[in-house]
Amino acid sequence: MSRDFVDKADKEADKIIIAHRGASAYLPEHSLEAKALAYAQGAHYLEQDVAMSRDDALIVIHDHFLDRVTDVADKFPGRCRADGRWYVMDFTLQELRTLRFSEGFVSHDGRPVPLFPGRFPPFASHFQLHTLEEEIEFIQGLNRTCGREAGLYVETKAPWLHKLAGKDISKAVLKTLRRYGYGSRESKCYFQTFDFFDLEYVKKELMPALGMDLKCVLLLTDSLDETKELRGGQQIPFDWRTLLNEQDLCRIRQLADGVGPDYHLLFDQKRSEPGKIELTDLPAIFAEHALIMHPYTVRKDQLPPYAGDINELFAAILCQAGAEGLFTDFPDLGVNFVKTLQA
Ligand code: CA
Repeated sequence: MSRDFVDKADKEADKIIIAHRGASAYLPEHSLEAKALAYAQGAHYLEQDVAMSRDDALIVIHDHFLDRVTDVADKFPGRCRADGRWYVMDFTLQELRTLRFSEGFVSHDGRPVPLFPGRFPPFASHFQLHTLEEEIEFIQGLNRTCGREAGLYVETKAPWLHKLAGKDISKAVLKTLRRYGYGSRESKCYFQTFDFFDLEYVKKELMPALGMDLKCVLLLTDSLDETKELRGGQQIPFDWRTLLNEQDLCRIRQLADGVGPDYHLLFDQKRSEPGKIELTDLPAIFAEHALIMHPYTVRKDQLPPYAGDINELFAAILCQAGAEGLFTDFPDLGVNFVKTLQA
């Protein structure tokens, strides 16, 4: 059904809340415990970010580094690269299983300082890394015991970096999804990536070869660190704004159902203030090209100056900008907001 035929009431009833790294405002991001809480809070989709271990296990973790969320620096002090970072792909699954998984932190004088002061304390209690297979079985188990289906929303992290190491992470992720029954457009599963060229590879080569056709979303950010492209043998930062032309927008629509923009891109930062949020021209451009929008990431403890509270931000994204869903660290608040729209 084209979005032109979906009336406003139906659209609002269909808004989806994606638990960003689980209920990550309340429990360490990407822990199975954070996924269980997001599930219990009624999130429609649970997000998985995936990196690959040295022995090709698929690990659910946001960074392709280990040092922000584990005790790797203490356990394996000699294993960081020249850039001072510990890479997931340099460790075997068995080694990764020995690490303590934590709420995100930065080290100051050898002490972990939390990135969000009000969140779960770093290294409190006990959490461990897990594989994509383990997370899918966890969610499918909950789907069975709770009698409702929460979807998967899977991102392959830095496909360009994995390719340089000879690892086809997107292929491995797709094969895993297919093995667990996620293969078609009807599957409750989205494939998301920042990497336009990898999306092209996934949609045009991998999925047809594997007999798959999952819904896809191209993520958009102004951070030039997020993804790279190989040009003249060199990895250079990829700027998605080069795609903002008629021809490339049509190309995106052929590859993806929609886009996942950083929500800051949707609002005019200079002219917006609480009670009067102004859109940029992007929401209209995406709507013209029949691209749905799932912006990221709404955080009650990191609101932009132009949002008076989290509900004003939810309303600006879902109602004013017309997004079909959003990513949030607070799935409970997102689900409550969508319920008020439905009521
Ligand atoms: Ca992600």
